[in-house]
Amino acid sequence: MSAENKFKSSLPVLLGVMGDPIAHSKSPAMHNAALQATGVHGMYMPLHVHPDQLEAAIRGIVALGYRGVNVTIPHKEQVMQYLDVIDDSARLIGAVNTIVNENGKLTGYNTDGIGYVRSLKEEAVPQLAGKRIAVLGAGGAARGVIYALALEKPEQISILNRTADRALALAADLRGHGLGDISGNGMQDAQTVLATADIVINTTAAGMHPHVDDVPVDPAWIREGAAVSDLIYNPLETRLLRESRLRGCTVHGGLGMFVYQGAVAFEHWLGIPAPVDTMRRAVLDSFEK
Ligand code: NAP
Repeated sequence: MSAENKFKSSLPVLLGVMGDPIAHSKSPAMHNAALQATGVHGMYMPLHVHPDQLEAAIRGIVALGYRGVNVTIPHKEQVMQYLDVIDDSARLIGAVNTIVNENGKLTGYNTDGIGYVRSLKEEAVPQLAGKRIAVLGAGGAARGVIYALALEKPEQISILNRTADRALALAADLRGHGLGDISGNGMQDAQTVLATADIVINTTAAGMHPHVDDVPVDPAWIREGAAVSDLIYNPLETRLLRESRLRGCTVHGGLGMFVYQGAVAFEHWLGIPAPVDTMRRAVLDSFEK
């Protein structure tokens, strides 16, 4: 049976996002627009779940016949203990953001890093193999992004972080999983590393609203012609991106990561291509409301 026929029952396909808080999530607007555009009879609900109710809520996925959910802050790590299968993407990152219910068996995936890389390739740098990549930051987002970047076989990934020990620990951990040439450094090495990087990726919160004048590094250290990507999407163009663009760099903002992590989740649930342009439009429209 094709995926489209599989979901053409008289009952709607139930999807949602569990988090605490959840009211401001853009995921319902994005996924409901995607369901409508693909003609799938379904709905995607914001689900406010307190941490002490997480296990019951996960059991509720099966009890209520949800096809799947996204999981967001603060549940991404804790939820793993309640699932039947953890995909490699989530096990290595240590966090789940997407759950699929296959006849009562719950599988956890992480689509953040994979979604980011799909966005980077579609929107800015089609080929990552052989590239020298500098990643600014060593937090949760960096981990998922570096895992997915490493699968593309770049020449080298250098992690630069304000707290050098975190960069060193993350690099050692990922190297230990055979993910290639990954090194960790403190920010004092940033100027040297950036001088030869083909791609610079900001995964820190520096520059995010309301601190829009902050930059994680001096943009003048990035070589002209490099690609510069920022995970931040509020504002859509950070100061790092604006100054890099004016210096002749290719720039890539964080909205695409959000859209594509949703697109990959949508494809896990429904088995049909996600309408990425519709999803991006829906998120932009919801910003304007
Ligand atoms: P996290 O785990 O708390 O890590 C934060 C990282 O940012 C750490 O490496 C921290 O360095 C660094 N940092 C924070 N403020 C800084 C500053 N002022 N200057 C330099 N470094 C600073 O957070 P996360 O979950 O990884 O999220 C990081 C960013 O990614 C956020 O801006 C978030 O909005 C963005 N994000 C975007 C998407 C998307 O869909 N586009 C998805 C996930 C996350 P230390 O280790 O030294 O503290």
